[in-house]
Amino acid sequence: MIEIKDVYKTYNEGTPEAFDALKAIDLHVNKGESVVLSGVSGSGKSTLLSLIAGLDKPSSGKITVDNELISKLPDMHASAYRAKTVGVIFQHFNLLEALSVEENVMAPLIHSGYDLVKIREMTEKSMSLASILHKKNAEVKALSGGEKQRCAIARALVHEPKLILCDEPTANLDRANSLKFIEILHALHDMGKTIIVATHDPLFEGLSFVNKVVHMEDGNIVNKEQGVGSSE
Ligand code: ADP
Repeated sequence: MIEIKDVYKTYNEGTPEAFDALKAIDLHVNKGESVVLSGVSGSGKSTLLSLIAGLDKPSSGKITVDNELISKLPDMHASAYRAKTVGVIFQHFNLLEALSVEENVMAPLIHSGYDLVKIREMTEKSMSLASILHKKNAEVKALSGGEKQRCAIARALVHEPKLILCDEPTANLDRANSLKFIEILHALHDMGKTIIVATHDPLFEGLSFVNKVVHMEDGNIVNKEQGVGSSE
């Protein structure tokens, strides 16, 4: 599903502030695998996720996702790739506070070309998967932190992406909501989604459905461990 070969990312390239955020990254993720990307803040996790999501380009090296060469995609094709293949969940929920849960979740489908009946059906399915269907008419600003996170999950899943990328998803959640989030990830894993979670939350240690733990330090991958749930 994901093949990363000798990827470097230098910020401010060619200036005195040039900084190598990723160095010689090689990573292979099979379809349906769940991967935890661990490492302290600043180790390069978000940078790597943004390259896989097609939000930014590597300075050199190759990234292939679902047989598409992401590292070279022009911007227009990169947004089409994201709309088709990727769902991203951030620590900040980036929701429209004055709109309802349902309106936020359905937003990515507005220009999808689906008719309204299909859009409503996909929106309901995604809200149900993320356990937020009961709040569908509530305004986002009236939700708790955990509910906002579930609304953001529903929005990230509404277009039925094969690949789900999460960047410090539990950083703003209490323990109960973090565990609920992990439960939803487990269900997505069981549905065959490929999942990468960048986190330093200890709650992600030793999870039964995690196939690989990839540890990052100063822009390098320092080890790849088989997770508890690995079948390899
Ligand atoms: P993590 O997600 O592990 O916290 P990041 O990928 O966000 O790490 O950052 C890796 C390093 O790259 C950090 O030292 C950070 O300061 C630097 N960095 C991230 N984004 C930029 C940017 N847009 N410009 C310059 N440096 C950046």
